Amino acid sequence: MNARTSMSVAGGAALTIYALFFASSYDQRILTLSGIYVILVLGYQFIFGHAGALSLAQGAFFGVGAYTTGILGSKFGADFLLTFPLSIVVAATLAALVSLPVLRLKTHYFALATLALSQLLLLVAINWEPVTGGANGLPGVPPVTILDWKLTRGLPLLTFVWAIVGMAMVIAHMQMRAGRVAAFTVMRETPLAAPSFGIDSGMLRLRAFLLSAAFGGAAGALFVHTNRVVSPETLGFGVMITCLTMTVVGGRFGILGAVIGALLLTHLPEWFRGFDEYYLVAVGILLLAAVVFAPEGIVALIAPAKAPHENDKPSLHTQSKRASATKPSRLALEAIDLAKSYGGVRALDGVTLSFGPGEIVGVIGPNGAGKTTLANVLTGLTPVDQGTIRLGGRDITNTPAHIIARMGLARTFQTPQLPNALTVRDLVETTQRAHGMSPAADEALDLLTIRSIADARCDTLPHGLRRQVEIARAIATNPGILVLDEPAAGLSPDEQDEIAAICISLSASGMAILLIDHNIEFLSPCVSRLICMEAGRVIADGASDETLTNPDVRNAYFGVISS
Ligand code: ATP
Repeated sequence: MNARTSMSVAGGAALTIYALFFASSYDQRILTLSGIYVILVLGYQFIFGHAGALSLAQGAFFGVGAYTTGILGSKFGADFLLTFPLSIVVAATLAALVSLPVLRLKTHYFALATLALSQLLLLVAINWEPVTGGANGLPGVPPVTILDWKLTRGLPLLTFVWAIVGMAMVIAHMQMRAGRVAAFTVMRETPLAAPSFGIDSGMLRLRAFLLSAAFGGAAGALFVHTNRVVSPETLGFGVMITCLTMTVVGGRFGILGAVIGALLLTHLPEWFRGFDEYYLVAVGILLLAAVVFAPEGIVALIAPAKAPHENDKPSLHTQSKRASATKPSRLALEAIDLAKSYGGVRALDGVTLSFGPGEIVGVIGPNGAGKTTLANVLTGLTPVDQGTIRLGGRDITNTPAHIIARMGLARTFQTPQLPNALTVRDLVETTQRAHGMSPAADEALDLLTIRSIADARCDTLPHGLRRQVEIARAIATNPGILVLDEPAAGLSPDEQDEIAAICISLSASGMAILLIDHNIEFLSPCVSRLICMEAGRVIADGASDETLTNPDVRNAYFGVISS
C-alpha cells in the first residue's frame, strides 16, 4: 500500500469514528459541507489542475446546480431523483453552450470570460425575481426526498452526502486513468506542440470543462438541500474563491488533495473562532503559509511525487545496439504555392516543393528565411493564407494539426518540446495512444538507443538526449513523413553523427524526411536533395552539390557575391 492509500484509509477511518461518536450536530453539518466542497473541488481539478486553465466559472456551475434544485424543490416539490440529475445536466449544458466561444481563449482571457459568465448569472438570479426569488432567494427548499423517504439533517444527511462523495471519487478516478492524465500533462506543459503529437487539445479541454461543471452542479444541488434555501450567494464570487483556495491549498491533482483542501478550509474558520475579530487574520496567515511552503498543495508534502530514477542522466553514447528500422506508412507530401504573412512580413511567398518515401530532403536558408514557418504550415500548426498541401494525395490544407499527425506526419521542434513531469516512456506511449495505437515505447527507444532512460523524467535530461527523445516520440507512431526542425542545433559533432545515422536508417525503411538545419556538414552526408529558402521563397531545389554551388544560394546564404 503506498503512502497516499495508507493515509487515505487511516484518515477515512478517523473521520468516520469522529462523525459517528464525537461530532455534535453542528460538527456534522460542517462535515456535510466539507463533503459538498470535496465534490466541487474534485470537479475543479479537471479544468484548473489537469487542463491547466484558470476557470472562474466553477462557482457559477455550483450556483446553477443550486438554483435548479432550489427552484424545482421549493416551487414544485420535485423529488431528489429528478432534481439532482437535472442540476448536473443543466450545469453541464451551460458549460457546453459557453464552451465554443470561451474554451478557445487563452490564459487570462479565459479567466475573464468565465468570470463574466459568473457575473451574468448572478445578475439573472437577482433580477429574475418571479423565478429565482430575487436578492432574497427562495426559502423552503425541501430536504433530500427519494420517493417517500425524507433525509433529516445530521448523521443521515452527512452519510448520504459522503456516499455521493464516494461516487464522485470513483468517477474522478475512472476519468483520470494514467493514460489520460499523461495526455493532459502533455497538453498543459507543451500546449503549442501537443496537437502535433496527435493530441486533440480541444476535446481534452472540453471534457475537463464539462466534468468540472457537472461536479459543480452536483455540489450546488447538495448544498441547497443542506441549507434549505437558495440565494444569490450560491452564485457569488465567494464560492469561487473558496473553491480555488481549497484546490490550491489541498492540491490541484488527485482525490486526497481535494479532501484535504475541502476539510481544512471548512474547518479552519471553526478552529480559529476563539480569536474573535482576528480570526480571519489567523486563517489568512495559515493559508499564506500553506501556499508558500506547499506550492503544489499540502498533499505533495504528505505524499511527494515519485523521484526520478537513478539512471536519469546517462551520456548520449553509453547505449548499445540500434534496431534496424520502424515500419512507416509510405507517404508523399506535396506543397503548392504556399503563402503565409505576418502583418507586412511574407514568411512564405509561393513555396512549392514535394518529397516522397525514402527521401531525405534538406532545407537551408538564412535566419528568418521561413523554414520554421514552412514546418508549421506543413504540420497544421499554422494556417496558410494561400496554397495547397497534400499528404498521400489527400488535401490537408489547414486541417487541424492533431488530424494531420494521426494521418502520418510527425515532427520535432527547434527547441525540444518535452513535458517536464512525464517520463520518456510516458511521453512516447501517450503519443502512441493519441494515434489509437497500443502503447509500446521500447521499439522506438531502441531505435534511438535510449531505452535505458525510459523511466527518466524529461526535465532531468541533457540537451542531446532531449533531441533523441523528441525523435523517438515522433517516430514511435510509424509516420510516413518526418519533419525535423534543426535537430542538430546545440549538439556535439558526435551527437550530430548519431542523428544523421538515425535519419539514414529511417529513410532506408521508407520514411520521407524533411531535414531543416543550418549545418551543411551535418546535412550533406545524409540528404538526397537540398532546398534553399530566402525571404519566404525557394531559391534552389536540387542535388546537394547543385544547390550549394548555385550563385543565388551562395549570395543569400553564404554571403558570397558571385561575379
Ligand atoms: P531561423 O533560422 O532563425 O529559425 P526561419 O527560417 O525558421 O528562421 P521563420 O521562423 O519561419 O524563419 O520566420 C520567417 C519570418 O516570419 C521572420 O521574419 C519571422 O520574424 C516571421 N515570423 C515567424 N513567425 C512569426 C509569428 N508568429 N509572428 C510574427 N512574425 C513571425
